[in-house]
Amino acid sequence: MERHDVIVIGGGPAGLSAARRLRELGVKDVLVLEREAEAGGIPRHCGHSGFGWQSHRRNWTGPRFAAELRKSVSGIDVRSGTSVLELKKDGVISARNHAGHLDLRARAVLIATGARETPRAQRFVGGTRPRGVMNAGALQQHVYLKHHKPFERPVIVGSEWVSFSVLLTCRHMGIRPVAMIEQNARIAVPRPGAWVSKLWYRVPVMTNAKLVAVEGVRQVEAVEVERHGKRERIACDGVVFTGGFRPENALYMTGTFDSEELSPKVDQGFRCTDPAYFAAGNVLGPLKTSGVCWLQGRAAAEAIARSLA
Ligand SMILES: Cc1cc2nc3c(=O)[nH]c(=O)nc-3n(C[C@H](O)[C@H](O)[C@H](O)COP(=O)(O)OP(=O)(O)OC[C@H]3O[C@@H](n4cnc5c(N)ncnc54)[C@H](O)[C@@H]3O)c2cc1C
Repeated sequence: MERHDVIVIGGGPAGLSAARRLRELGVKDVLVLEREAEAGGIPRHCGHSGFGWQSHRRNWTGPRFAAELRKSVSGIDVRSGTSVLELKKDGVISARNHAGHLDLRARAVLIATGARETPRAQRFVGGTRPRGVMNAGALQQHVYLKHHKPFERPVIVGSEWVSFSVLLTCRHMGIRPVAMIEQNARIAVPRPGAWVSKLWYRVPVMTNAKLVAVEGVRQVEAVEVERHGKRERIACDGVVFTGGFRPENALYMTGTFDSEELSPKVDQGFRCTDPAYFAAGNVLGPLKTSGVCWLQGRAAAEAIARSLA
C-alpha cells in the first residue's frame, strides 16, 4: 500500500490551495488526486472573468486562474485522471486510474471534492429526453473545453449568479438564449439582475414560471412552462438547468462515514467525525466563490499541519 503524509482529494481551488499551504508549512509528502484530465476544478471550464481576486488580487478568467493554481503546486505530486472510490477508516482510501486500482493511506486526508448542480432527474421535469438538455457545468465544458455549440436558442432555467455566468458563456459562443425562467416571484440575484439580463444580454426574465415539460424528438424543440396557473409553450432548441448546487458528497455517503448528511460534518478545525479526515471548499456547502474556497483550503491545511506536528 502506498503511504503519504497527506492526500488531498480534488484539485480545485480548495484542494490546490491546501496542497500549496501544506508545502509552505513544511509538510513534504503531499499527494493530490483529481478525477478530471487536468487539475483546476470548476474554474478550468469557466471562460469568463471574475476569478483570482482574493488569492492574487487579479481579475482573471477561470482557465487563467486554474493555470495559476496548477503553477502554485509545481513540485507536488498531482495525479489527474484518478478517481477516489472509497474512504475507509484511518485514512485508507481506494482509487482508480488508467493503470488500475490503487490502495493508499495517509496520516490525514482532505476531502475537497466541490459541489455539483441538481440534475434534470431530480427536478421533476416531464416530457421527452432529446439532445440539448444540460446543466451549466456541461455547457461550460462544451463551449470552453470543446469549442462546440450545443444549441442556438436555449432556455435558461434559474436566476442565480451561475445563471448569469451561463449568459456570458452563451454570448462568448454566439448563442442567443430565448428566456431565463425563474419559478419564484423574484429572481435569485439582486433585482437589477433582471435589467442586466434584458437590456445588456437581450434575454427576458420570466418569474413565477415553472418548467413542466421538455418537447422534442432528436433535439429540443420547445419547453412547456406553467405561469399563473396557465401553460405556455416556448420554442427553443436547448435547456440549461442552472444552480441548485449540492455538495459532491457521494464519497462521504459510503465507507468509514456511511452518512446520510448532505455534506461532511466538520469541527472548527475542518476535521470530520473520523479524525483522519478533513474537508474544505464547496463540499461543505453552500456554494461559495472560488476565492472563499481557496482561503478555506489554506485554513484547512493549517489545521492539518497542526494535527501532524
Ligand atoms: C458556472 C459557474 C460559474 C462560476 N463563476 C465564478 C466566478 O466568476 N468567480 C468565482 O469566484 N467563483 C465562481 N464560481 C464558483 C467556483 O467555481 C467554485 O466556488 C470553486 O470552484 C469551488 O472550489 P472547490 O475546490 O471547492 O471545488 P471544485 O472547483 O468543484 O473542485 C473540486 C474538484 O474535485 C474533483 N473531484 C470530485 N470528486 C472526486 C473524486 N471522487 N476523486 C477525485 N477527484 C474528485 C473534481 O473533478 C474537481 O476538480 C462559479 C461556479 C460555476 C459552476
